[in-house]
Amino acid sequence: ATTFGIDEALEKLGLTKINEGTSTGTKNFGAGDSISSYSPVDGVLIGKVKTTTKEDYEKVMTAATSAFKEWRLKPAPQRGEIVRQFGEKLRELKEPLGKLVSYEMGKSYQEGLGEVQEMIDICDFAVGLSRQLHGLTMHSERPGHRMYEQYHPLGVVGIISAFNFPVAVWAWNTALAWVCGDVCVWKPSEKTPLCGVACQNIIAQVLKENNLPEGISCLINGDYKVGELMTNDNRIPLVSATGSIRMGKIVAQAVAARLGKSLLELGGNNAIIVTPDADIKMTVIGAVFGAVGTAGQRCTSTRRLIIHESIYDQVKDSITDAYKQLRIGNPLDENNHVGPLIDVDAVKMYKTALENAKAEGGSILIEGGVLDGNGYKSGCYVKPAIVEADNSFKIVQEETFAPILYLLKYSGGVENAIAQQNGVVQGLSSAIMTNSLREAEHFLSAKGSDCGIANVNIGTSGAEIGGAFGGEKETGGGRESGSDAWKIYMRRQTNTINYTTELPLAQGIKFDL
Ligand code: NAD
Repeated sequence: ATTFGIDEALEKLGLTKINEGTSTGTKNFGAGDSISSYSPVDGVLIGKVKTTTKEDYEKVMTAATSAFKEWRLKPAPQRGEIVRQFGEKLRELKEPLGKLVSYEMGKSYQEGLGEVQEMIDICDFAVGLSRQLHGLTMHSERPGHRMYEQYHPLGVVGIISAFNFPVAVWAWNTALAWVCGDVCVWKPSEKTPLCGVACQNIIAQVLKENNLPEGISCLINGDYKVGELMTNDNRIPLVSATGSIRMGKIVAQAVAARLGKSLLELGGNNAIIVTPDADIKMTVIGAVFGAVGTAGQRCTSTRRLIIHESIYDQVKDSITDAYKQLRIGNPLDENNHVGPLIDVDAVKMYKTALENAKAEGGSILIEGGVLDGNGYKSGCYVKPAIVEADNSFKIVQEETFAPILYLLKYSGGVENAIAQQNGVVQGLSSAIMTNSLREAEHFLSAKGSDCGIANVNIGTSGAEIGGAFGGEKETGGGRESGSDAWKIYMRRQTNTINYTTELPLAQGIKFDL
C-alpha cells in the first residue's frame, strides 16, 4: 500500500509487523487462522490478523477478570485521568488513525478524521463524567435511617462492533465503561480487524506508561463464532453489540438466556419528512449527504424521503440535479464525494435491492450500477441511486446498507407523513424539514416520530456524542455515548443505614420478640 501515505500511517500505528503477529495474551492477535484485510479502496492486501482460539479467549478472560479486581478499586477520577491520556494519544495519532479507517473501511478521509474526533470527544466527556457518577439520596420513612443509592463497577464488558464505524463505536463504549470501573473485551468486525489492532496498540501504550494491567482493554479477533464466546459467557455481565438486526436478535437471545444484560445498537431505516414549507436548499444538502455519505453505510444514513405532494416535483428535481454533481472514487482523495462499499458482497446486496425495487414497481430516477476500470479495481464502487417507491414495498421496509434513496409521497397533514415514517420495524433516526412550529412540535410529540433520534431542520445522519445515541423497536433499544447512557455500565445498589439503637421495620410492620 503506497497511496496517500498509508504505509507511514501503518507504521505510526505500530502495524508494520502485522504479518508476523502471532503474540497471544491480552493483546492477543491469536493463534487461530488469519483474517486478511483487503482495502475496498484499491483491493490491496493491507495486512493479516490472527484470529482468537478458544484457548486464547480463556487467557484473555483470565487477564480481564484479574485486571478488573485492580481497576474497580481505583477512584473514578483517577480512571478518568487514564482516559484523558488516551484522548491525548488519539489527538497525536488522529491523522494516521483517520487514514487507516478511511483505507480499511472505505469512508472519506474527512469522515475517518471525524471518527477519530468522536473518540477524542467521548474521552473528554468521560473525563468529566468520572467525577459525576452520581446516585441519589432519599428520605427514609424510618426515623434515624439514611437511604441512598450508589453505582458500582459492573465487571467485564463485551463489545461487538460493526465495520462501518470501526473505531468510534468501541470508544463510545470503552471510554464510559473504563471511567465506570469496568474492563473491556472487544471483538471488532472481521471486515476491519486492523483498526482494532491499531486502537489496542494505542491504549496498551497508555496502560503500560501507567503501570496498569493491559487486561483493562482486551482485543479478540474473528467472526461471529468468536463473538459467541462472549455472548454465552457468564463472566460477562454486559454485552454491547452494534450491527445488523439479524445479529442483534441472535445476540439478545443468547445473552438473555443467561440473564445477562445487552446493549443493542442495530439497523435503521431513517427518513426525512419534507413538508410544504421546508427550506428546499437545506433539505437537499441534508438528504444528499445523508444518503450518499459513507456510501450509504451509516446506521443513520437517509434511506427514505417522505415528500409532500405539493413540492414533490421541486424536491425531486433539486435532488436529482445534486446527484449529477457527485464524484465517485478513492475516498482518500478529497475531491471525491462517494467512496466504495465495504466489499463485493455488499455490492451484490446493492444490486439485488435495486432489482427488487424495480420488480415491486419502483421507478428509477437515478440509475445505479457498478463501476469498473481505472480507479475502481476493487470492484466495490457503485453509483448512488434514487428510486421512486412506495413505503409498502418489501425492499423499502428493509435496510440496504448502500447508497439507495427512496422517494415517497404524502398528501394531507403531517400526520400522514409520520405514519409512513413510523411504518417500518426500525426506529433509529428521523428528521423533519419544516418552518412550521406546529408541524415540528407535532413530529416531536408523543404522537410523532417513534425513533430514538428525532431532528428538526437537520438530516438523519450523524450525531453528537453529548446526547444518548440509539433507537427503538428492532433497532434494539440501547443507548450509548452521552446523557445518562453511562448507567448501563454500572450496577446500582440501594443502601439503608440505621444509626439508632432500635430496629423499626418498613411499612410499620411490628415483629415483637
Ligand atoms: P453484522 O451484524 O454483520 O456484524 C456486526 C458484528 O457482529 C460483527 O463484529 C460480527 O462478527 C458480529 N456478529 C455477527 N453475528 C454474531 C453472533 N451470532 N454472535 C456474536 N457476534 C456476531 O453488521 P455489519 O455488516 O458489520 O454492520 C452493519 C450493520 O450495523 C447495519 O445494520 C447498521 O445499521 C448497523 N449499525 C448500527 C449502529 C447503531 O448504533 N445503531 C451503528 C453502526 C452500525
